[in-house]
Amino acid sequence: MQNREWLYPRIIKGKLYKYRSAVSYFFLALLFAAPFIKLNGEQLILLNVLERKFVFFGVIFWPQDFYLFVLALLTFIVFIVLFTVVFGRVFCGWACPQTIFLEMVFRKIENWIEGDHVKQRKLDESPLTLEKASKKTLKHGLFLLISFFIANIFLAYFIGTSALTKIVTEPIAQHLSGFLSICIFTLVFYLVFSRMRELVCTVACPYGRLQGVLLDNQSIIVAYDYERGEPRGKKAKKEENHLGDCIDCKLCVHVCPTGIDIRQGTQMECINCTACIDACDMVMEKIDRPLRLIGFKSEDEIKYKKPFKLSKRIYGYSAVLLILMTVLGYLLLSRSDVKATILRASGTLYQLRDQDKTVSNLYTAELVNKTSADLKFEIQPDDPKATIQFIQKENELKYGGTVKITFFVVMPQQGIKKYKSDIGFKLLSAGKVIEHFNTTFIAPPND
Ligand code: SF4
Ligand code: SF4
Repeated sequence: MQNREWLYPRIIKGKLYKYRSAVSYFFLALLFAAPFIKLNGEQLILLNVLERKFVFFGVIFWPQDFYLFVLALLTFIVFIVLFTVVFGRVFCGWACPQTIFLEMVFRKIENWIEGDHVKQRKLDESPLTLEKASKKTLKHGLFLLISFFIANIFLAYFIGTSALTKIVTEPIAQHLSGFLSICIFTLVFYLVFSRMRELVCTVACPYGRLQGVLLDNQSIIVAYDYERGEPRGKKAKKEENHLGDCIDCKLCVHVCPTGIDIRQGTQMECINCTACIDACDMVMEKIDRPLRLIGFKSEDEIKYKKPFKLSKRIYGYSAVLLILMTVLGYLLLSRSDVKATILRASGTLYQLRDQDKTVSNLYTAELVNKTSADLKFEIQPDDPKATIQFIQKENELKYGGTVKITFFVVMPQQGIKKYKSDIGFKLLSAGKVIEHFNTTFIAPPND
């Protein structure tokens, strides 16, 4: 295996870097705040795999809603595919938590303690002195501390803030597995941000590898305008030459956090962070040439000067996305608060009650509360002639709970025309119908 070359990217605070910082701080604030924001009494986002409970923007999804979860995931994947086809890997450079933490938190701390890219390289190459040891200790101490915070927040997304608060505030012995999880995640985050760094994007992340399949000549990506820049080379002052605009200063390479040369064309390692755009713009400004020798451009725009046009592929993905979003929206809006399953008790037929000339069927019902509160309920048959006699009665569904009820539906024998007929029930809570369900009623016809 080839030895890894440690990167010391230079930071250039150009226009795009400032925008990127603002976007990153917004996402950082959101990432840290989301587990502590409550909506409808629930955490804004919760992915509790152990309890099989998922919450998005205050709406709870239980295992019974798994189809919605799969559909939402599918919609998200199609959205990412469409976004990548049009705008390349811009998500990686501007919104991915890995890049945001690395570039806007850990890299900045490194620069603050060890100095710029030149000083950092010198420090690494210098022998161990008291100054070097104290700088490295301070840096790695802060890295560990921040990794510990990230590990806590990360866990809050999976176990919830109240469970996390217990782990943090109660004796360790009572939450040994929770405490160990925090330690393991702290170590993982520390290694990711202090050692692995760009390897997460260039080697481990599968999304980057998809680029080759998703991008085409129409995709708008960070690209070098080789038509304008080549042949590259240093320009002699006041001398006529036939060189392009690229002066081969390699500033675009020095700022690249993944260590690539964008002038070699689209590469899987490019995370579209736009640092090279800022760097090259700075050079162009100095040599008095138009900006955006490196910029957001498509291959067709560079080579054939063709403006961006929506391709058939984009129309296709957009249509699929629209259909998925419509179906998902409909299913979400029509999703009921209670999941009800009602069945005629197995192995039973009908019971003729000769004393009052009625006939009854025995039913069992299972109700699942999908809301974030306890729910009082009652069941009513649609048919006014039908009455319910409970064997096992419940009238409250606890938060996240399930109840089973068993009851007879009693109908007058008079007027029954068919052996098997449909029968409907309303589930009411606080006077409102919250669910409706159907089953069958059997009885001997009586005409
Ligand atoms: S920063 Fe611009 S001018 Fe300098 S090498 Fe890169 S593309 Fe060429
Ligand atoms: S080539 Fe440019 S946009 Fe791509 S990762 Fe390097 S600096 Fe960022």
